[in-house]
Amino acid sequence: MAFEGLSERLQSAISQVGTGGTITEADLKQMMREIRLALLEADVNFQVVKTFVKSVNERALGSDVLTSLSPAQQVLKIVDEELTALMGGEREPLNFSSKPPTVIMMAGLQGAGKTTTVGKLAKYINENGKKKPLLVAADVYRPAAIDQLETIGRQLGFEVYSRGTEVNPVDIAYDALTQARMQGNEVVIIDTAGRLHINEELMNELREIKLAVDPDEILLTVDAMTGQDAVNVAQSFNEALDITGVVITKLDGDTRGGAALSIRSITNKPIKFTGQGEQLDALEPFYPERMSSRILG
Ligand code: GDP
Repeated sequence: MAFEGLSERLQSAISQVGTGGTITEADLKQMMREIRLALLEADVNFQVVKTFVKSVNERALGSDVLTSLSPAQQVLKIVDEELTALMGGEREPLNFSSKPPTVIMMAGLQGAGKTTTVGKLAKYINENGKKKPLLVAADVYRPAAIDQLETIGRQLGFEVYSRGTEVNPVDIAYDALTQARMQGNEVVIIDTAGRLHINEELMNELREIKLAVDPDEILLTVDAMTGQDAVNVAQSFNEALDITGVVITKLDGDTRGGAALSIRSITNKPIKFTGQGEQLDALEPFYPERMSSRILG
């Protein structure tokens, strides 16, 4: 289960301050040391850990924790609030255009779960009131990616706009939008190419697609299992594309959770959804508060 190690360690660190009586500054210091280690071991970015621990410590010292009858509960509340803030505070829903179609451009490295997430999002959006999403196969370098999207489209009963591998992906994206306007699709979701690694060619192509379709959302899919790499990937894509949000996939695995805890504060872009499995209904809107509660048990 995701966050298992982190959950256990945070809970144990906090419970050590005791449920009755008061605690000393030394107890608090010891607890902060353990929280810091727990976060570092969960692969949370070093700078993020530093800032987080500093905030919790200042609040704990400044509050009535030291004199409180239940210091553990006080500390738990502070850690909970700070974890929630670290992951963005409020839920950030999708932006829908007031002039349909809403255009969602997906980006991400190969294997991150981008194509699967296109299907999941289409299903989610459709179930939440927007009709007839059009899925666009603009990953022209891997015929398998096009087949995969077509299979997903068939499974969900949504149309897939595809022109094979010989047409420029920028033209595909642009023409798909024209078709969506004519047909009255309310949402267009564009599956773009991924690569094994970030390179200029990929970023240039994505920039061109962005220019051509002026998306309402540019959602980056990152694989939670890749830890700090996911954070670096998010930073690079954000610098190149000014993304609007992140989907963290594979949070159903036994990831240590560092990506989920670091991405928001490193990129300043919201996590909008998490992927919780391979099935097309395994997508969850991201609520920082709920995620924090889940971690703290
Ligand atoms: P793409 O190359 O980025 O388009 O990635 P795919 O959509 O092809 O996904 C790569 C693999 O990850 C596939 O086997 C998916 O079933 C799997 N996958 C995608 N999202 C999730 C998720 O949230 N959880 C799990 N466990 N697997 C996922």
